[in-house]
Amino acid sequence: MATAREYLNEVYEKVEKRGPHQREFLQAVKEVFDTIEPALEKNPQYMKWNILERLVEPERIITFRVPWVDRDGRIQVNKGFRVQFNSALGPYKGGLRFHPSVTESILKFLGFEQTFKNSLTGLPIGGGKGGSDFNPKGKTDVEIMNFCQSFMTELQKYIGPLEDIPAGDIGVGGREIGYLYGQYKRLNGSQSGVITGKPVAMNGSLGRTEATGYGLVYYTQEMLQANGKSFAGQKVVVSGSGNVAIYAIEKVHEFGGTVIACSDSDGYIYDETGIDVALLKDVKENQRERLTAYAEQKESAAYHEGSVWNLAVPYDIALPCATQNEIDEEQAKQLVENHVYCVSEGANMPSTIEAIEVYQANNIYYGPAKAANAGGVATSALEMAQNAQHGHWTFEQVDEQLQEIMKNIFATVETTAKEYGMDGNYLAGVNIASFVKVADAMIFQGIV
Ligand code: NDP
Repeated sequence: MATAREYLNEVYEKVEKRGPHQREFLQAVKEVFDTIEPALEKNPQYMKWNILERLVEPERIITFRVPWVDRDGRIQVNKGFRVQFNSALGPYKGGLRFHPSVTESILKFLGFEQTFKNSLTGLPIGGGKGGSDFNPKGKTDVEIMNFCQSFMTELQKYIGPLEDIPAGDIGVGGREIGYLYGQYKRLNGSQSGVITGKPVAMNGSLGRTEATGYGLVYYTQEMLQANGKSFAGQKVVVSGSGNVAIYAIEKVHEFGGTVIACSDSDGYIYDETGIDVALLKDVKENQRERLTAYAEQKESAAYHEGSVWNLAVPYDIALPCATQNEIDEEQAKQLVENHVYCVSEGANMPSTIEAIEVYQANNIYYGPAKAANAGGVATSALEMAQNAQHGHWTFEQVDEQLQEIMKNIFATVETTAKEYGMDGNYLAGVNIASFVKVADAMIFQGIV
């Protein structure tokens, strides 16, 4: 029988052979495979049941054409996807991303990671992800609606409150969720549990908008406290200025830290006095403007082009909340030079494998995305529970449960790392704890 390492290598080679150009997906698989060897050694049945080869192949990938009419009456065509990755723990659950960079590789990496993340929440949800290469930037409301209606006309054939429940992600916020749900309802009748992240007036959950950003800060605070530290008095840099970033900044300030910079895909604002969250929300959510508009409206802020991770000033904590692979090896070294001692991920896979190696070599406290940003999907599951019971919980009830969930996730990660003899290795703790749960559920259900 092959050793655990031989088995891991063999399966990885097969994945590589099947999709040599799926760079992001291969990266996500490698990151998990690099850390779960001890779990296979302890549980040889995972090899006997060939869990890994089954786990890396999505149960189903749906691709479809999305035709729509733009403001000039021209017919546009985008590509639509839904990756139903793994339903061992429950119905597929995961967001929709609308961004020109979307490919099958990106959605497979997101669906793969979602499966592990959802397992960590302790809630009965499997993993999925979807989206389109549609670019919402610069589109009118009517164009966005036309696109969403066409996208949902096809997607609705494959989803349902008990089968697959999408939500938002990059480029899909409250407005898009509203149009998507409206079209689903038109075709299938009122079933609000089919999509989460809905506005509160449309059976959404209070606290869902804030959940990923707040959850990230709750998780990070747990990790800091376990190491005798906290956000209080710390200087923090957050990348992105979207849904996750805005609410992460808000919660860091509530916890006594100061966020000195945040970014968009063109550049970043640096404000030593701390980012003004009310102004940031107004610029992004109401004015739908770029960060340059923030700098024009705030005297103490300066706008710079380029990545915020090239910033060379001392600070303490980095919270990447924009997109995949936004921190590479050189930028990770810059963080070390800046005396950053904690990196915790709001975005999915924001650090390259080489960047993670730099964090680990420098004993940086590291909060991997699968755990640190799980608050969003966990609160989506709370929205599903409210929809199922036709009820509404207060903001405080939801936020309390979110805090409890993030606390439990960190406790599981910490205990698992210890149990496998890797005390303080939170990456191993995250990957092993989530993998074991999915693997056991798959064995329980037979070869399906
Ligand atoms: P938004 O669309 O609200 O915001 C995305 C932000 O990231 C924007 O500021 C955007 O800038 C920036 N960004 C996007 N692409 C790039 C890029 N290539 N380079 C630099 N900056 C970029 O998305 P969310 O806040 O919802 O999502 C952010 C991250 O968090 C994603 O990785 C997502 O998968 C993850 N996530 C989100 C959850 C949620 O509940 N929303 C849950 C869990 C994870 P610009 O405006 O210039 O494009």
